[in-house]
Amino acid sequence: MEPLVDSWGREIRSLRVSVTDKCNFRCRYCMPAEGLEWLGREEILSFEEIQRLVGLLAAMGVDEVRLTGGEPLVRRDLPVLVEMLAGIEGVRDLSLTTNGVLLDRLAGALVAAGLRRLNVSLDSLSHVRFAEITRRDALDRVLAGLAEAERYPELRPIKVNCVAVRGFTEEEVPALAELARRKPYVVRFIEFMPLDADKAWREDDVLTGGEIRALIEERWPLVEVPAKASSTARRFRFADGAGEIGFVNPVSEPFCSSCDRIRLTADGKLRTCLFSRREWDLKEPLRAGASDADIEALLRNAVAHKELKHRINEPGFVRASRSMSQIGG
Ligand code: SAM
Repeated sequence: MEPLVDSWGREIRSLRVSVTDKCNFRCRYCMPAEGLEWLGREEILSFEEIQRLVGLLAAMGVDEVRLTGGEPLVRRDLPVLVEMLAGIEGVRDLSLTTNGVLLDRLAGALVAAGLRRLNVSLDSLSHVRFAEITRRDALDRVLAGLAEAERYPELRPIKVNCVAVRGFTEEEVPALAELARRKPYVVRFIEFMPLDADKAWREDDVLTGGEIRALIEERWPLVEVPAKASSTARRFRFADGAGEIGFVNPVSEPFCSSCDRIRLTADGKLRTCLFSRREWDLKEPLRAGASDADIEALLRNAVAHKELKHRINEPGFVRASRSMSQIGG
């Protein structure tokens, strides 16, 4: 099949699939304490529906698939889906983004099913501050999940993602940088984006990657490592050799011009940008018996409308139509 190219000439190679909108954490920058109104069971795509869409996209050149949510590990039988997707020709890179709290139980089954890459979100290594940000006392379980993942050499790299919020994260930086030095984890700081369900985000809350880098370099000089053109992260190694740190700077250094990503929400909507105001329904046509050619045409049409850029930094920026956990971060 012809590759999937948007109207700005960007070739789509990467797909994020949200398998559920539910989450067992309540991170302050993402979801309110009481949670959100969850999707009904019938609204969520089945594993077979996800497999069909991924198969079609893989035939159009999408070779990177990341499972996310909500919290993907709360979706029952997730390893079954991993196995179904790992078997699709063309899916070269299958990964998972998780808060890690169920990972100690599931890592073995996920690896056996074909998972090869893992991102674990972790914002603090202090029990008190971890509970403050996630509203859950679960740091030990997340660390146990990471330790379990580490036992499988097939699962590399293991990335630890930390959302950087001004007034909170500065204090976490030394311990997280040390984690990158002491463990085989690539620690990455991600700028806080206006995707919180509470709509409390303010530009001033963004602690930029540049600022964090300066904090780290007060103690440990860093050396930049070349990254892939489509990479969201700038990569650095410690000058003394031990460990890797990354910065994902969507606010201070947008990387939209090389964006090769699309997203499938748990309820079967295609989104061409995290900040999209418009979504393209695939569930209804899938369930109405659309042919592969029909679905392919829908996918190509949606991608043709992919936004040029997110416009967070422009006057009159309008927030996305859904929040991070409902989209699939
Ligand atoms: N539950 C999984 C997890 O914790 O990784 C997957 C879904 S979660 C929505 C994906 C990532 O989005 C997490 O690393 C989370 O910290 C991040 N995130 C959530 N809200 C965010 C925001 N407003 N700005 C930046 N990152 C955010």
